[in-house]
Order: sequence, then structure tokens, then C-alpha cells
Amino acid sequence: MFHHDRKKVEKHTKNNECEIRESETCGCINCSAIFKPEEVTSWQDAVDAAEHPEHHIDRTGICPHCGDAFVIGDKSGYKVTSAFLDAMRMR
Ligand SMILES: [Zn+2]
Repeated sequence: MFHHDRKKVEKHTKNNECEIRESETCGCINCSAIFKPEEVTSWQDAVDAAEHPEHHIDRTGICPHCGDAFVIGDKSGYKVTSAFLDAMRMR
């Protein structure tokens, strides 16, 4: 059984460029796809990045399968498995 806090997990799906690039496996909590970090080729700029150029804010990875910004990498500390992704999706 999974008792992960979805809110905590969702934090890792935003502004997560570094985390994704350092991961070995990535997944999407929206469509449950599992893929390699290299497959993430679309990135969304942080909403307020332009307003705060002095702070580096990581971009957000876009899922190569469903196009939504719900990608999580295993570097987050969560094991990216289909069971994990399904559990997150069903909440
Ligand atoms: Zn997806």
C-alpha cells in the first residue's frame, strides 16, 4: 500500500529540471507513463522567472506522453514505478 502525501509528491513535479536530469527513471502522475529523463524535451518556464531574474528557478518538465506538467523523477526520493504512479493518480 502507498501512503505518500500527494501534495508532497506534486511539489516534485514542478520546477524540477535538475531533479529530472539527475534521475534514472521518470514517470508522470497524470498518465502513469514511465520514461527516461532524456525523453523530457519540453520545459515550462517558471511562472515568475521573468519577474525575478536574480533567482534561478528550475523549469518544469512536461510529460512526453500526455503533455502535462506532472513529471516526477526518482531523484526525488520516490521510487518511480507503475504502482506508485497509479496510486498517485487515483487520489
Ligand atoms: Zn503524462
